[in-house]
Amino acid sequence: MRSSAMTAYYEPNAERENFVLLTGSQAIRLILDACEPEAVVATGVEYSNNGQSFTARAAREVIVCAGSYQSPQLLELSGIGWREILEKYNI
Ligand SMILES: Cc1cc2nc3c(=O)[nH]c(=O)nc-3n(C[C@H](O)[C@H](O)[C@H](O)COP(=O)(O)OP(=O)(O)OC[C@H]3O[C@@H](n4cnc5c(N)ncnc54)[C@H](O)[C@@H]3O)c2cc1C
Repeated sequence: MRSSAMTAYYEPNAERENFVLLTGSQAIRLILDACEPEAVVATGVEYSNNGQSFTARAAREVIVCAGSYQSPQLLELSGIGWREILEKYNI
């Protein structure tokens, strides 16, 4: 029997109080706070929905799961990546 994100992950958790699914939203950038010199911790995410920008703050952790191409892209948009590439785009 084929499984999908909806049947395997969404449906069993849809009623949980600590679960919110935002459709039509796109993560734009991770919010990073400096925790030590040369180290950062992700504390939230900036996302857009319907042309408007929003911020979600994490109580505990941020899990990046945008797939094998877009996860690294999201990290790059957040300033994590090759300096030469990021500087070219003023990131
Ligand atoms: C044709 C094909 C068949 C496959 N068949 C099987 C199989 O039979 N069995 C198996 O175990 N595996 C299979 N796989 C592999 C499996 O699909 C992947 O390993 C799995 O989907 C990866 O899950 P993921 O959650 O890491 O990423 P994805 O499933 O890629 O999910 C990433 C999600 O993030 C979203 N996203 C991306 N960027 C952003 C952003 N900036 N803001 C908000 N959302 C964003 C995307 O829209 C997507 O919904 C198959 C893959 C392919 C391509």
